[in-house]
Amino acid sequence: MTSSHRSYAPKKVTILGSTGSVGCNTLDLIGRNAGAYDVVALTAHRNVSLLAEQARKFNANYAVIADENCYQDLKEALAGTPTTVMAGQQALDEAARISADWVMASIVGAAGLRPTLSAIRQGGTVALANKECLVCAGDLMMKEVRDHKATLLPVDSEHNAIFQVFDFDKPETVEKITLTASGGPFIEASLDEMKMVTPAQAVAHPNWDMGAKISVDSATMMNKGLEVIEAYHLFPLKADQIDIIVHPQSVIHSMVTYQDGSVLAQLGAPDMRIPISYCLGWPDRLKTPAKKLDLAACARLDFMKPDEKRFPAIALAREALHMGGTAPTILNAANEVAVFAFLDGRIGFLDIASIVAETLTRFDSAALSCLEMVDAIDGEARRAAQDVIGKL
Ligand code: NDP
Repeated sequence: MTSSHRSYAPKKVTILGSTGSVGCNTLDLIGRNAGAYDVVALTAHRNVSLLAEQARKFNANYAVIADENCYQDLKEALAGTPTTVMAGQQALDEAARISADWVMASIVGAAGLRPTLSAIRQGGTVALANKECLVCAGDLMMKEVRDHKATLLPVDSEHNAIFQVFDFDKPETVEKITLTASGGPFIEASLDEMKMVTPAQAVAHPNWDMGAKISVDSATMMNKGLEVIEAYHLFPLKADQIDIIVHPQSVIHSMVTYQDGSVLAQLGAPDMRIPISYCLGWPDRLKTPAKKLDLAACARLDFMKPDEKRFPAIALAREALHMGGTAPTILNAANEVAVFAFLDGRIGFLDIASIVAETLTRFDSAALSCLEMVDAIDGEARRAAQDVIGKL
């Protein structure tokens, strides 16, 4: 994370994954600060109608749809506008390379890795929501950040909280960080109850309104495991300095414990527009429409240790981080496959962690030397996870 220089001309912004939950929240903030931003490129996977609506509203220079089959529909939806329409994986990379002051990386899953890297290689500011990128290729990605002198700003609320209170000048004074976890919708459910959980129940997060994949990750608490790996790459810390605590109210977004015993935390309403705005305005703070925190109304804040028996995904992620090399790539790929199989109704909720665990056992961990290897391992792990599902 390096410093940026201030400019009072409109900031040129690109949003990779503009039709998702983070993307829409980002555009909501941009819409409230008219004149402060020029939208360069917006991208989606298949949601043509929302992408076209956003491109018209924000007068985007480029609208890019990842699925080439959607090209004609998008072209027709944007006929008569100055927006250039592009489609396909390569077009996504091109969009990420178009000169912009600020890029939001909010594609979900490992699919966001290439475009996020393309944005990083421009050496500008990248706001990173897509945690799966860091999980599947953390060391390689952070090397690209350093090599290209890019500025990486963490969007994930926990990492954004740590970013706000971490003393980067004296990291040796930090004893540990603590990531807070809401615990998701099943924090009090028994294993028998969790067996019967439906996709609709799993995506109904009690505090946060998010995309389907991260909502399921929150319900299994794999999200917290992925966040431990994300934090490991973002902050100068060892794995055993990254703690997790369940805090069901999601008021404290994470904390840093210093060697003198002081604990610094960032608090706020559970509204992603707060961390997104911190990245959008950085190094300044923007006004947001987020509800202001009323601690008297909260009345109480609860904390408890995560139950790793009911939520084995946390230990799986820690184990993958400990193994290093290809293990986190395999963990991430298997989890993506399992989560989408669950959302499709093909497997049960508790199968998600079992599939990830079984997939991990099918590979020997090896060093991860290049991006081509990430792609290869990711593909192999996805096939292995499908095979595990087939044998259930
Ligand atoms: P959503 O599912 O809501 O949105 C995902 C976005 O990525 C959409 O624009 C989608 O397009 C696009 N997309 C999906 N698959 C592909 C693909 N194969 N190629 C190109 N684009 C694709 O996700 P969220 O906004 O919830 O999350 C985005 C990322 O941010 C995730 O990594 C998540 O973990 C992280 N995050 C999210 C938070 C939240 O509050 N939602 C909080 C913290 C982190 P389309 O709409 O066309 O499908």
